[in-house]
Amino acid sequence: MALRDFFISLSENQALSNAAHQYGLKLGAQSVVAGTSLEEAITSIRKLNEQGISCTVDSLGEFVSDEGEAVKAKEEILALIEAIHLEELDAHISLKPSQLGLDIDIDFCYDNLRDIVERAYEYGIFVNFDMEDYKRLQPSFDMLEELAKSFDNVGTVIQAYFHRAKDDAEQFKDYRLRIVKGAYKEPEEVAYQDKLDIDINFIELIEYHLAHGHFTSIATHDHNIIKHVKYFVEQYDIPKEKFEFQMLYGFRKDLQLELAREGYQVCVYVPYGKDWYGYFMRRLAERPQNISLVTKQVFNK
Ligand code: FAD
Repeated sequence: MALRDFFISLSENQALSNAAHQYGLKLGAQSVVAGTSLEEAITSIRKLNEQGISCTVDSLGEFVSDEGEAVKAKEEILALIEAIHLEELDAHISLKPSQLGLDIDIDFCYDNLRDIVERAYEYGIFVNFDMEDYKRLQPSFDMLEELAKSFDNVGTVIQAYFHRAKDDAEQFKDYRLRIVKGAYKEPEEVAYQDKLDIDINFIELIEYHLAHGHFTSIATHDHNIIKHVKYFVEQYDIPKEKFEFQMLYGFRKDLQLELAREGYQVCVYVPYGKDWYGYFMRRLAERPQNISLVTKQVFNK
């Protein structure tokens, strides 16, 4: 747990994030981030599409505290939407409200989100609101609900480590939802700390949304959970069109392909851009074995 906390605190370090901005992908990040430019991301998306895998694409950025930067992030996402449309890619958008100004002003953030969702709506492209830490959860849900009054191409994430997750899953059961375990460090007042408690809640949330909800994205690299889901959908006769497995770019590629070959829908989360640092540190926090990505790079020099 100490190692996890260490990497999560590194992920929140703004000075290191700014320093990382100046350089290309370092420390092994290139194996889990699909490049620093839109062009590089498109190449990766196309390769995945050719293998029968769809993509949810994240123009990286988070915790923005400057209005100009938030507007720039919006412009980059709009360019990504145009590219998905023009290149006819099998892809949709993942974004973080804090990259669009949530920490600056909620109305400003909402306007940025609305511009993005409206453009994506014109092209029939889905937009997922990634979920960040607890203090940003309710404001993000509020903006989502407001936008959903006018647009049906929006959905979000339920993080299984939160005590409130089941209430949120019920509230958002008519939305397309991605169910995850949760990636941030949260206090015990709001979140389960024990891996078993999180896993049990995760499975119950997945089953609930599969049985009662709209489309479900099961986002995990955990083969035991994937095995359980396969069994559950077969037992309850849930059609493959109603759900997909999601995994992160560069992780468990064999399993991604195996599931696609078995006829399941598979969607890979493709992050790209200069703001790779926080995303990469959270991946190191999740799985100590990922540190081998770093050591390989350092010792191969
Ligand atoms: P873990 O709990 O990390 O691992 C469980 C077991 O699975 C391990 O013990 C091991 O046996 C096996 N395993 C895991 N990874 C590997 C591997 N690489 N190779 C071999 N075996 C492995 N979190 C958020 O808070 N907000 C979000 O919006 C969000 N979006 C996400 C989107 C996607 C597509 C994915 C995949 C994750 C997202 N997450 C998000 C992160 C998520 O919350 C978890 O932190 C992360 O997925 C790690 O949990 P896990 O379920 O993959 O498995």
